[in-house]
Amino acid sequence: MLETVHVPLDSRAYNVEIGPGLLEQAGRRIAPFLARPKVSIVTDETVGALHLATLQDSLRRAGIESTALSLPAGEATKGWPEFSRTVDWLLEQKVERRDLVIAFGGGVIGDLVGFAAAVLRRGVGFIQIPTSLLAQVDSSVGGKTGINSVHGKNLIGAFHQPRLVLADTAILGTLTERDFLAGYGEVMKYGLLGDAAFFEWLETMGPKLAAGDMAARVSAVRRSVEMKAEIVVRDETEQGDRALLNLGHTFCHALETATGYSDRLLHGEGVAIGCALAFELSARLGLCAQEDPSRVRAHLAEMGTKRDLRDIPGDLPSADDLLTLMGQDKKVLDGQLRFILARGIGDAFVTSDVPRDTVRAVLQDALDQCGA
Ligand code: NAD
Repeated sequence: MLETVHVPLDSRAYNVEIGPGLLEQAGRRIAPFLARPKVSIVTDETVGALHLATLQDSLRRAGIESTALSLPAGEATKGWPEFSRTVDWLLEQKVERRDLVIAFGGGVIGDLVGFAAAVLRRGVGFIQIPTSLLAQVDSSVGGKTGINSVHGKNLIGAFHQPRLVLADTAILGTLTERDFLAGYGEVMKYGLLGDAAFFEWLETMGPKLAAGDMAARVSAVRRSVEMKAEIVVRDETEQGDRALLNLGHTFCHALETATGYSDRLLHGEGVAIGCALAFELSARLGLCAQEDPSRVRAHLAEMGTKRDLRDIPGDLPSADDLLTLMGQDKKVLDGQLRFILARGIGDAFVTSDVPRDTVRAVLQDALDQCGA
């Protein structure tokens, strides 16, 4: 059941290995990449407690010595204090230029550790072992690394591609249902932005893969990674097409800011709601069929995850305030809001040509349903 997706980025090319049981094989898969048999692992406390022993055991069996640092779990870790602690810890481990660092966790660990590797001794290599669905289908591939600032999310960082990604789909079994479904928002995003047949497949297989069907999980991760890789190879540093990956994200970032990046809304949940809103906006602008936004919401309803503003607990700001928050998104160019809209399911495009009033009306209607 193992699959490989190659990311052909010239001298920075790498493989993403996908399938159950990869963690047990990590040692022998990593060994060929090492200049000396020694690695430093950074994980979070939750993933570390569950899976670090398996990883270290596999490394040991391959004759590789390892040391590990466990950071607190959660988005709050992705800032300067834990970042500088990580860099200092890696220096204490005497990581050399040709050594590799292992990022073992969800997107928070992958982003922070990738950035630490990018700046340590002006750049050391790193390996991603993503453990959340979101990290396997999105954040571990493509080389965007970084941390948050008090001025906003992901504002400090670097492009730094991993040398190898090991996505063990069996490890997803210990995620909470909510974290798993949040990651599913990103899986669905790929179908919506560029592959109608994949979205159709998800409409049938989504509930099965959520219930644990391993073959379906492997297929969904593989197709998502393939699509991400294709887009990243076309546009590594986001000068154009890579922005398509932000389908739903302009709405999502405004909602995440409005809810204070708290437990009220996880990133992937915001992406799912944002995708539904992007399709609603596309339908209002006459770009796609009226049925498309309902189809997106119906699928999210079947998966049992958030799909509307009314699914977010607590009060939300007004439509105007949400519009202002959307204007602070880092994807804004020359003050113009950029949206990813769709001509239909599987056919997204980037545009700055969106009347503010139509966006406000979509938000207002969604907010009106909150009290209903
Ligand atoms: P996360 O890393 O916080 O993981 C979510 C939770 O799941 C955490 O509590 C973690 O401890 C737990 N967890 C992870 N794997 C587990 C496992 N196998 N078993 C049990 N618990 C497990 O968050 P995330 O959703 O993985 O990633 C979100 C982050 O990714 C955000 O910071 C976002 O900005 C970033 N991101 C980056 C990119 C990129 O291209 N670099 C793309 C999308 C998102």
